[in-house]
Amino acid sequence: MCENCLTTFTARSRRSFLKGAAGLAFAGYAGSAFAQSTTPAQPVAGEAALKRLTEGNARYAANQPRERDFSAGRAARAQSQYPFASILSCADSRVAPELAFDQGPGDLFVVRVAGNFVNEDGLASLEYGAQVLGSQLILVLGHTGCGAVAATIDVVKNNTKLPGHLPSLIGAIRPAVLEAQKESPADLLKAATIANVRFNVESLKRAKPVLAQRMAEKKLVVAGGVYDLATGKVELV
Ligand SMILES: [Zn+2]
Repeated sequence: MCENCLTTFTARSRRSFLKGAAGLAFAGYAGSAFAQSTTPAQPVAGEAALKRLTEGNARYAANQPRERDFSAGRAARAQSQYPFASILSCADSRVAPELAFDQGPGDLFVVRVAGNFVNEDGLASLEYGAQVLGSQLILVLGHTGCGAVAATIDVVKNNTKLPGHLPSLIGAIRPAVLEAQKESPADLLKAATIANVRFNVESLKRAKPVLAQRMAEKKLVVAGGVYDLATGKVELV
């Protein structure tokens, strides 16, 4: 197959995929009357979604999560999904977004990578969450004691050589560490973690064509937060 043919084929396949996916999503909304009661018929606006996350995190931090029956919504969830928020989280095993925000299956569209940074595949997933699934909030979630950020600081300061594919991960976090270093903070790990969250919030806001367009249409809010491993609380940054 020639290069042009391949390009055309790929574009056609992508269009039909998106068309099909959007059709499924639309069918899902139309059928929402049959879904569990917590499932919205319409997407939740970004600010309202952020409030829902904040309230859920307060319950989690206070060790007072809602009681819920996970089996109750299973049949509805098998037909469709209505995540009200998307999370770009670190892969750290101690950060569990559904628990930290006291949410259940189907509530959150979660993309995870060590260091919670945006890459091509993560961006594609978040575009899908926003455009097809209707999520109007993306929360970039860093955390205290992040090994990926600590490793990047070590590489920047000590020129440490890391094995395997780790250097590419370091390369993604390095700009935030360099930015944080300019202020000579007392706690560089904390400052770099916040800088990394903010850096990726800005990247997502500018990400063309899908996310930037939805920002312009007021159909998307991008926010950042840092999860404290010790308290379980998320602070917006
Ligand atoms: Zn981490």
